Amino acid sequence: MFDVRVLLVEDDRSIADSLRSGLERYGYEVTAVATGSAALSASAPDVVLLDLGLPDMDGLDVCRMLRAHSTVPIIVITARGDEIDTVAGLEVGADDYVAKPFGVREIIARIRAVMRRIDSAPDSAAAVQAIGDIQIDRSARRVLVHDKEVALTPKEFDLLAYLGLSPGAVRTREELMDAVWDEHWFGSTRTLDVHIAALRQKFADRFVITTVRGVGFRLDVPT
Ligand code: CA
Repeated sequence: MFDVRVLLVEDDRSIADSLRSGLERYGYEVTAVATGSAALSASAPDVVLLDLGLPDMDGLDVCRMLRAHSTVPIIVITARGDEIDTVAGLEVGADDYVAKPFGVREIIARIRAVMRRIDSAPDSAAAVQAIGDIQIDRSARRVLVHDKEVALTPKEFDLLAYLGLSPGAVRTREELMDAVWDEHWFGSTRTLDVHIAALRQKFADRFVITTVRGVGFRLDVPT
C-alpha cells in the first residue's frame, strides 16, 4: 500500500521519531504533530494515530472533534492496556485501540486492517440501497435521510450497511463483530452495543434495530 498519509499525534519525541521512521520504511507518508490543536488543524490524512496523553488537550476530546467533521480512520494509542476497555466503551469514534508498548509491525497491521475495511466495502454499480426512507450509498459510504446526510463514524456505517444487507433477518453478535471489527479487535463486545445504541439514536424512528436476546440484532423498517 503506497502513499497512505498518516497523521501521528504523539508528544513523546522518542516514540514519535521511531514510529515515524518505522512507518516511512514501509512506504507510509507521516506527518507528526505533538499537540491536539496541531492535530485538529492538520490537513486531512488517510489515517490518524492518536496518543491520548497530550500536553494541551485530552486525547479523547481530540478524537471526538476529529470525528465530528471527518470519517477518517482513527487508531487510539493508550499508555495502559487496561484503559482500552474503558476508552472503547466511551463513544469517541475511534476505530481501533493499541496499548503502549507496541511495535511498528503491530501498528502497521492495525492501519492495514482499518484501511482494508474501507477498501473492501461493497462498491457495485447498484451501490445505493433504499430502506424505508433512508438511502445507503455504499460506494460513497454515506447514509441519507430524505437527501440529507446523517453523520456516521466508519464503524457505525459498516454496522448499518451490514444489517441493511438483509432487513428483517437476525444477525448474531459474532457475525456482526466479525463483519465490522476484525481479528485484531481485543476490546469487549460491548463496543457492538455502543454502536447499536448510536445508530438507534441517530435514526430514531426511521428504522428499528431489534435486540434478539441471547442471539443478536435485526434491522426492521416500519411500513
Ligand atoms: Ca503522550
